Amino acid sequence: MSDVIIIGGGPAGSTLGCYLSQAGISNIILEKAFHPRPHVGESMVTASTRVFQEIGFLEVMEREGFVKKYGATWHAPSNRGKFAIAFGEFPQEGIEQDYTYHVDRSQFDLLLLKHAESFGSKVIQGVVVKRVLMDENGRATGVRAAIDDVEFDMHAKLVVDASGRDTLLGRQLRIKKKDPIFNQYAVHAWYKGLDRGDDESKDHIHIYFLPVERGWVWQIPITEEITSVGVVVDKQVFKELFTDMDAYFQKMTETNDNLVHTMRHARRINEYKTEGDYSYSMDSFVGDGYLMVGDAARFVDPIFSSGVSIALYSAKFAADRIKKAFDTDDFSAEMFQPYEEKLRGGANVWYEFIRLYYKLLPLFTHFIQSPKHRLQVLQLLQGEVFDRQEVPVLDAMRKYIEAVEKTEGHFFKAHLSDISIDPVPETGVA
Ligand SMILES: Cc1cc2nc3c(=O)[nH]c(=O)nc-3n(C[C@H](O)[C@H](O)[C@H](O)COP(=O)(O)OP(=O)(O)OC[C@H]3O[C@@H](n4cnc5c(N)ncnc54)[C@H](O)[C@@H]3O)c2cc1C
Repeated sequence: MSDVIIIGGGPAGSTLGCYLSQAGISNIILEKAFHPRPHVGESMVTASTRVFQEIGFLEVMEREGFVKKYGATWHAPSNRGKFAIAFGEFPQEGIEQDYTYHVDRSQFDLLLLKHAESFGSKVIQGVVVKRVLMDENGRATGVRAAIDDVEFDMHAKLVVDASGRDTLLGRQLRIKKKDPIFNQYAVHAWYKGLDRGDDESKDHIHIYFLPVERGWVWQIPITEEITSVGVVVDKQVFKELFTDMDAYFQKMTETNDNLVHTMRHARRINEYKTEGDYSYSMDSFVGDGYLMVGDAARFVDPIFSSGVSIALYSAKFAADRIKKAFDTDDFSAEMFQPYEEKLRGGANVWYEFIRLYYKLLPLFTHFIQSPKHRLQVLQLLQGEVFDRQEVPVLDAMRKYIEAVEKTEGHFFKAHLSDISIDPVPETGVA
């Protein structure tokens, strides 16, 4: 019997396995798929490096030769305007590298899972966890799992849900709340023949704004030749514009001049994939004998490539409290509450930033080009989000929006969207 059962061997589950093994806590990772398996979420932020260092994974990232990501570039829908940031402009504490990575997730997730195994996690693939077992007081005691159709129970002192957007435990407990604002829909595929240019932004993530509600396209280099392209719009827009996939994809990518240029010789090399209903939060992330990490707890719109970084940090913060729980033999919800607060705080900073961004798109462009605000915005884009005090730029953005709302004839007024930017509550669903 292991001390901890981890449901899911994605970035959150594997990273948690590494931290727990480092602390001498035995753990078993139950993964329903057989890795390598494809996954969306291919571009990282630099804060991830800190976690890679701590779990000894940075050498693996370097050895595998993933594409190095030095920054990000945004493209206006028309007039071929664009602007960029480079991560190296703002040094990050404890991080030497001025780049992060773009990854083929099937490869990255496999390597991380193997890394966890090499550290001591017991990994079983092809096991579907059906549900978390609870005693009469609602305390988690183990899981009911299945290999093919054969079901069996496993028990442990602690169960961690790292099942990603499957949100196994959140659904079981009926505590999953759909985001009241965001209902995005993404269609994506890999391409060859994209013209990524030859300047320093060649290996940046490129974000192309589309002239539709919350519409944008990602361009992420996966290898020298392969580029991931994804179209994201509000689901309602998708429903209105969709006829067939090729026509839809072409129609959307034709609405940004720079993207038309970039994709003029592009040829799709795999099937389209779609992702929907992906913004939500659980009412709580912890309980007696259990906690949730990564997407299993909370997911915010991926416009700033925050997901993997949140998954890694959630594992780091969860491991801290789990160590304390084993030291004191206390596996109560109260023990894990500080973890929830920390993770919720970080996710809420991203969430606030994302809402302010969508509230007034030109504001982001303006701030990133302003000498006064540029570095603070960059700090956010690097993923340094776990201390709200350290990101005063959010208040500055808020004030600016208020001024635009109040000022008759303001230049940006026509660009205001109807998104609510009310402060995010400290706990509960944001
Ligand atoms: C459109 C879109 C674009 C995105 N772009 C980015 C990006 O550019 N950068 C970024 O950082 N993030 C991005 N993300 C987010 C990113 O995909 C996730 O945040 C990240 O994968 C979370 O890791 P995780 O380990 O929590 O979950 P996952 O990576 O989903 O891993 C969960 C694992 O659990 C397994 N599992 C599920 N259910 C069970 C079960 N019942 N039993 C056993 N195993 C189970 C799954 O097979 C899977 O391997 C994007 C997301 C979307 C929707």
